[in-house]
Amino acid sequence: IERTFSIIKPDATKRNLTGKITAKLEEAGLRVVASKRIRMSKEQAEGFYAEHQGKPFFAGLVNFMISEPVIVQVLESENAILLNREVMGKTNPEEADEGTIRKEFALSMSENSVHGSDSPESAAREIQFFFSDDEIV
Ligand code: ATP
Ligand code: MG
Repeated sequence: IERTFSIIKPDATKRNLTGKITAKLEEAGLRVVASKRIRMSKEQAEGFYAEHQGKPFFAGLVNFMISEPVIVQVLESENAILLNREVMGKTNPEEADEGTIRKEFALSMSENSVHGSDSPESAAREIQFFFSDDEIV
């Protein structure tokens, strides 16, 4: 069994899609073992996306992530990291496969509705970034 970290991003919370997106995750076989709605601070968003510092889209990404509340979640299943990436779809919604979250809900490359960890190392880091052990049950 594996855990991954997910964010329902501002474009999705703003459009009241929290339940619809969580349903897609659950239908794919992922279990929500921690969840909270938060407003990210600028410092949190910059730290969370530190790997993208210096890229042309960085400032826009940070401003987007703090523009509305987000839902941060820990998801659990066999191969959760890969499974979540599959159900999310490609970063660019125009390239996302039919049936994926981004194909159905994303508005653009930046307003793409969800985040999901891309490796065991980033999953561990990202879960710890937002959750303490006792919040994951
Ligand atoms: P995420 O990390 O959010 O799950 P990802 O792994 O598919 O998405 P990354 O390459 O890690 O994509 O980029 C992180 C986020 O930065 C993307 O989800 C998107 O919101 C934004 N982003 C990435 N590339 C671009 C771009 N070229 N223009 C605008 N925004 C971008
Ligand atoms: Mg990524």
